[in-house]
Amino acid sequence: MLKRIAILGSTGSIGKNALRVIDSLNSLLVTRDSSLEREKTRYEIVALTAHSNVELLAEQARRYKPRFVAVTDADYVEQLRKLTGGLDVEILGGPGSLIEIAELEGVDVVLTAVVGAAGLGAVLAAAKKGKTLAIANKEPFVIAGELLTKTAKENSAQLLPVDSEHSAIFQAMQSGRREEVNKIILTSSGGPFRKMSIEEIQNVTLEQALSHPVWDMGTKITVDSATMMNKALEIIEAHWLFDMAVDKIEVLIHPESIVHSLVEFVDGSVIAQLGRPDMCLPIQYALTYPERVAGIGERLRLEEIGKLTFEKPNFETFRALSLGFEVARTGGTAAVVFNAANEAAVQEFLAGKIKFVRIVELIEHCLNKHNVKISVTLEELLEADAWARKEVLELAYSV
Ligand code: NDP
Ligand code: MG
Repeated sequence: MLKRIAILGSTGSIGKNALRVIDSLNSLLVTRDSSLEREKTRYEIVALTAHSNVELLAEQARRYKPRFVAVTDADYVEQLRKLTGGLDVEILGGPGSLIEIAELEGVDVVLTAVVGAAGLGAVLAAAKKGKTLAIANKEPFVIAGELLTKTAKENSAQLLPVDSEHSAIFQAMQSGRREEVNKIILTSSGGPFRKMSIEEIQNVTLEQALSHPVWDMGTKITVDSATMMNKALEIIEAHWLFDMAVDKIEVLIHPESIVHSLVEFVDGSVIAQLGRPDMCLPIQYALTYPERVAGIGERLRLEEIGKLTFEKPNFETFRALSLGFEVARTGGTAAVVFNAANEAAVQEFLAGKIKFVRIVELIEHCLNKHNVKISVTLEELLEADAWARKEVLELAYSV
């Protein structure tokens, strides 16, 4: 069998890991899995995209020989053309190129690994075309979860989670029927500031926020993990992805990041998925689903880990978490504002222009000022997104 793959955001942390996983899947020595009596699947890379890192994109194009490469920042198209000179590859450019790639006839699986709401159009386009989506890019789910799940359903597009918690829930859910699920429990490492009080967190630095104790990820999600906005976004992602009432979603702090999430069934059984904190495993499962094949990661040895600990989240220091639950309950444009304000504020924080604690303050200001609309069109979602970004900049610099 052949699976033809497009990776949106191949130069990022998830994108690079996905290429490693695909290398490993294609290099599995057996051509036929004798114990399982099935043919080996080959993974062909049809398209790769980057935003501006054309050096790496060109290097990936030389190695994987995709038929298409796209760079969403149009200023880099010419440079990419020069860097890929001599290769038989079609070059696309500009923000719309992501959608063109997502819609390609010759693509079966679209792995969405771009960062932020920028991936929304492409995710929707892939769902409309009935593709299988391996979803790492959680922000489109947060802002347009209802529209996305509806579009996927109408067009028989399969939505497979890559986010480790959602992959864990997806796997644990296979232990029973959907109506037998009582609640889901998302785990969180707690990030670098897990033990801090409100007072202590006031003066943390960018460098501290970027030093995640467990996971090695892109900068935006690393900051989101420090504020716990990442978990807040994941609550909303889980709500839509698993059609789960917000009151049936819980968060548990688990600093070792070995138990990736849990599902409690009506009889009281709790089923969890465990693994080392390595994104290659959930990426691989989304690509090989419904099958499992040998993985590249090191095996989990619980005797080496010794102890797994769990604690309640600190809602006082991590206001983002409470806001996440509130926004998930409210729905509509609240989630759009929540996400867009965060993206804008994180950008300012990464540029060294605002303090860490200002990120969640700005998000809360925007939420308080916003008039939520519940049943909304895509245009209205985008309008709310643009409003929140502008609002953050105005608030951040008006003293
Ligand atoms: P990175 O910042 O490492 O990579 C982002 C990718 O998206 C890069 O290829 C980048 O291109 C591209 N990109 C950046 N901006 C745009 C844009 N405006 N339009 C199109 N493409 C763009 O992010 P991560 O890999 O860490 O995260 C990707 C997504 O996966 C996020 O939504 C994150 O929340 C989610 N995720 C990530 C995890 C992780 O372990 N990293 C775990 C779970 C979820 P360029 O390199 O040229 O800038
Ligand atoms: Mg996650």
